[in-house]
Amino acid sequence: MTRFICVQCGTQFAETETPPLSCPICEDERQYVRWSGQDWTSLSALQSAHRVHFTEEDGVTGIGMAPSFAIGQRALMVQTDSGVILWDCIALIDDAAKARIAQAGGLRAIAISHPHYYTAMVSWSEAFGGVPIHLHADDRPWVMHPDESIHFWSGETQSIAPGITLIRTGGHFEGSTVLHDAHGAEGRGVLYAGDNLQVCQDRRYVSFMRSYPNYIPLNATAVSAIADALAHYPFERIYGAFAHRNVSQNGKAAMARSVARYLAAIRA
Ligand SMILES: [Zn+2]
Ligand SMILES: [Zn+2]
Repeated sequence: MTRFICVQCGTQFAETETPPLSCPICEDERQYVRWSGQDWTSLSALQSAHRVHFTEEDGVTGIGMAPSFAIGQRALMVQTDSGVILWDCIALIDDAAKARIAQAGGLRAIAISHPHYYTAMVSWSEAFGGVPIHLHADDRPWVMHPDESIHFWSGETQSIAPGITLIRTGGHFEGSTVLHDAHGAEGRGVLYAGDNLQVCQDRRYVSFMRSYPNYIPLNATAVSAIADALAHYPFERIYGAFAHRNVSQNGKAAMARSVARYLAAIRA
């Protein structure tokens, strides 16, 4: 039995004898099936061809894969007084990653923004004694590897540690979530945004889409809802979905001007 991993999106599936017939994440209009056809790998194959690598950026440690794999997902280590919360996830875990996190106080939980980052979340949880994985219940249909470590939360916010709040923004996915760390940036607050707020290449703005690869925009109602969900949270920095794609200062102002620019652009 193998937990097959989709080569295109990095999602790990529950154990089966033979590869799944298709990947619903890739067949969804927000993604795309590999041009050369659906293909599968496994954690052990990834462990021999890739390694987990770490980046230090704007005060946090990022975790990615080298060489890059699937969407190029990166996770981030949110440091708390009682260990690390892994924000988002990647398709590979190896001994170096386990050692690095153990050194930082161990893993206490995993929280993930949306299904494109579910990847090998269950293997990550198992590697640290079955720590809880916090996912928004609205995205439950996209879980390809159900497991008792997954805790579905519902509603608009969920506190998972002192100063750490998961906030449902919706938009990209129904249950799209960001993580707010009130203690980050010396108490000015930081936002871990996934691609629910996509940090633009100029790293001064963010943007919003239902699908990035297929260019499906969000409407004004959805973007206003994201802005409303974050209205009462201060944040100096915004950590995006990819390595070094962060707004390093004045994050709150960047969010405000980004929403204004977006709504002006789509106004009839
Ligand atoms: Zn896929
Ligand atoms: Zn996505």
